[in-house]
Amino acid sequence: MTLLARRALLIGSAAAALAARGAAAAAPPFAGKQTAGIYRYRVGGFELTALYDGIWYRPITDAFIRNAPFAEVEAALAEAFMPADKLATPFTTLVVNTGKRLILIDTGTGGQIAPSAGVLSANLLAAGIDPKAIDLIVISHFHPDHINGIRDKDNDLVFPNAEVAVPAAEWNFWMDDANLNAAPADLKVAFRNQRRIFSGLAKNVTRFHPGTEIAPGIETLPAPGHTPGHTVFAVHSGDRSLLVLGDTAQHPAVFARHPDWQAAFDIDGALAVATRRTLFDRAAADRMLVTGYHFPFPACGHLIKTANGYEHVPVEWQPNL
Ligand SMILES: [Zn+2]
Repeated sequence: MTLLARRALLIGSAAAALAARGAAAAAPPFAGKQTAGIYRYRVGGFELTALYDGIWYRPITDAFIRNAPFAEVEAALAEAFMPADKLATPFTTLVVNTGKRLILIDTGTGGQIAPSAGVLSANLLAAGIDPKAIDLIVISHFHPDHINGIRDKDNDLVFPNAEVAVPAAEWNFWMDDANLNAAPADLKVAFRNQRRIFSGLAKNVTRFHPGTEIAPGIETLPAPGHTPGHTVFAVHSGDRSLLVLGDTAQHPAVFARHPDWQAAFDIDGALAVATRRTLFDRAAADRMLVTGYHFPFPACGHLIKTANGYEHVPVEWQPNL
């Protein structure tokens, strides 16, 4: 008997024994749905909750990266196990409980970007966080996947008791009607979306200048390029820090490995690259914990400097805080 035939025989008899034993048991039901997307961690005395809002596979063309041949982009996507013509774009928001304030950094898609995104509300519920308890929303920039979650599909406020803090430069750029009128058609959609989200809210919106603390332990740092007022946050408590990178880079398998790539959605591509290099160098040199809004869930880890770019090393799951 060949080795293969012998193996088949053994597997066959084992399967028959299992079938005989299991004949009386009911068929195990499929769960058919994903579990909650929640990851908790601590930074000093603060408790953080990463909340998943879903994923969008953004269709891309040869215009996606302005300064690299499309063949190189396709090779990078293939290397990262992504479809050839789509960029995996997951969304992860962050709740910071400082012990005094409950702060939400960026608000997710509000279910208004893709059918595969918009599970933030369900994950808030599963995490035991009442949207009414969020008292401050801090926004990194005004792209729809970061602000749309301020409202639901019916245009109602999701976090009715929250003050909203936005970068002043971001507000000034997007709320300027001259900029709206001068924008190409696809960007006009973003301008109009921002007017919808912030309409009636202006009185409750604080406009901050990066370099200041927006709340105790939440430092704001300018990170322009992706958008004119794009801002990142350093969360400090005790001797621990976390850098909240927002859209300094989108999926790290593409943009950490190729930090010099200028994406079509970066308003100033060269400035976006310079900002990315500066912040990633700092995070790698200081071995800082970082989180990126479009990094794979739980979106949190470290950056290592490599010969040509950076590699993202995700955190280990921690059963205990
Ligand atoms: Zn984004």
